[in-house]
Amino acid sequence: MNETAKRAHAAIDLAAVRANVRALRARAPRAELMAVVKSDGYGHGAVRCGRAAREAGASWLGTALPEEAFALREAGDTGRLMCWLWTPGGPWHRAIELDIDVSVSGLWSLHEVTAAARGFGRAARVQLKVDTGLGRNGCQPAHWPELIAAAAAAEAEGTIRVTGVWSHFACADEPGHPSIAAQLAAFEDALALSEAAGLRPEVRHIANTPALLTLPEAHYDLVRAGIGIYGISPAPEVGTSQELGLRPAMTLEASLASVKRVPGGHGVSYGHTYSTPGDTSLALVPLGYADGIPRHASGNGPVLVAGKWRTIAGRVAMDQFVVDLGGDTAHAGDPAVLFGPGDRGEPTAEDWARAAGTIGYEIVTRIGTRVPRVYVDSEMENHQADGADGDGDTALTGVPHD
Ligand SMILES: *Cc1c(COP(=O)(O)O)cnc(C)c1O
Repeated sequence: MNETAKRAHAAIDLAAVRANVRALRARAPRAELMAVVKSDGYGHGAVRCGRAAREAGASWLGTALPEEAFALREAGDTGRLMCWLWTPGGPWHRAIELDIDVSVSGLWSLHEVTAAARGFGRAARVQLKVDTGLGRNGCQPAHWPELIAAAAAAEAEGTIRVTGVWSHFACADEPGHPSIAAQLAAFEDALALSEAAGLRPEVRHIANTPALLTLPEAHYDLVRAGIGIYGISPAPEVGTSQELGLRPAMTLEASLASVKRVPGGHGVSYGHTYSTPGDTSLALVPLGYADGIPRHASGNGPVLVAGKWRTIAGRVAMDQFVVDLGGDTAHAGDPAVLFGPGDRGEPTAEDWARAAGTIGYEIVTRIGTRVPRVYVDSEMENHQADGADGDGDTALTGVPHD
């Protein structure tokens, strides 16, 4: 392991990513699977996880930003790839050049992409997004007839090809929520109208991980799985990762920076919100909110140190937090495991989500760039460190190199 990884690292098990993709595909056997690798693969590394997902049969990759999709192409990805979060003046031309499917939710973006394609001389691959109730991006049903008519005209002219019609759920992680059926009905209406307008998309899709797992009628031609491919449950209501047959891919581990004896009544960390109940040992974990450890988990976040699950003593600071070992002993350099798959008795990202009042998505995605990602392949027993080529403390997520 390299020098940077000694303080702390996030080990990413690519075999777990592949196993999760296979497990998810088995749950949606009639649909293709898009592995969503936005935000650097939810903090796991987009390029490496995208490649692992492809190996396990993901025929699509998806990102939010066009720049994230470009980075995948630049790293050699050649498969179907879609990005959906565009702002006016976006890099349409480059997306067309790199054969990326782009999402269009309204006339402004349809005009921009058709203008870019006209200059280019190649049809842009456009996926039309309808707002079936999420209230975020997507065309409102009232404007849908106008958008699909304009798209059909652009397709007839040869500037675009409408490759997809799609939408996104608001509450798929709350099985039985009444908005789910309402969104499916609205999606059916939008599909019927697009068909009547002469559009023949290759893929119709609405399911994210929770819909993939709980709602087969929402699978259509393609399911978009993000959190599930990293082995984390979308929500307790859907089940734990273990119940879902998913394996958490990220293990976040640090080396204790110090262990020392202190007397009872000793205040710990900023604000002295914790004070030692008696003579004890305090262990210092060199990870803080700058590394993505939620400050909301102060006094609450779980960590495995010296064979036991312990709770953070006092506040999480920018770079470090403290654990009270009670009567137990540990030494500087010993491991502190914040979360992982749980096999060694360590907490999971889902446990952290509960402790911090958030969701597993946020726990893994916010792990900062100071924490090097170390790629592990438990199938091939081939360990490979990424991200510390003598650049001191800054680690290199987002620029994996082989
Ligand atoms: C992030 C995202 C997904 C993936 O959602 P998960 O719940 O992580 O599976 C799917 N579709 C869109 C549009 C997204 O933004």
